[in-house]
Amino acid sequence: MTAKDVPFTEVIPVEALASRARELGDQLAEEYRGREPVFVGILHGSLPFLSDLIRQVRIPLDVDFLALSRFGEGGKVRIAMDTETSLEGRHVVVVEDIVDTGLTLSYLRRLLETRDVASLATVTLLDKAPRRIVDVPLEYRGFEVGDEFLLGYGLDWEGKYRNLRSIWAVLDLAALQASPGALAEKVFGARGDSLIA
Ligand code: 5GP
Repeated sequence: MTAKDVPFTEVIPVEALASRARELGDQLAEEYRGREPVFVGILHGSLPFLSDLIRQVRIPLDVDFLALSRFGEGGKVRIAMDTETSLEGRHVVVVEDIVDTGLTLSYLRRLLETRDVASLATVTLLDKAPRRIVDVPLEYRGFEVGDEFLLGYGLDWEGKYRNLRSIWAVLDLAALQASPGALAEKVFGARGDSLIA
């Protein structure tokens, strides 16, 4: 199988990601002024978005991280790495890469609500709204997307491709699974036409 057998297309370019981060940053600064929020990035997928977003939120804030691990059926999660900051009494802004069925965010919110936070809101870069199974509050979103499998700007496939600078859709996931090397070659392969350049 050759590289062109994995259909792959850019869906959100770098410029659109940057300008949306700027808009969300302004909105969040306005709403959280005087409240010293804690922005909690959910590892690993939120990393590029968190990094771009916080630099657009021009008010004092704290940044921390939380990692989840999945177990059992139905999208149950537990905390694999907790925040260093105590969240008690704080205005917490959870930063996610993508909300799909909503199960992960719903578990996470329930976990965080047990911590006597002053307020809890979520900002997600991407919202796969048509695939939602549970109705979970989502206060801020970057883009609404369809149900293609997305990669890049934090989103991975088997741990890889998080370092693409923009968001791409894999139009045929079966082709990727059958031939993972073909996409890697297309993305990182020939010097001079790398998609991360
Ligand atoms: P949910 O619990 O909302 O169904 O799933 C959220 C998680 O599913 C995300 O944090 C992400 O890890 C994964 N996910 C959902 N859709 C995509 C996608 O299109 N691409 C990638 N790479 N991960 C996705």
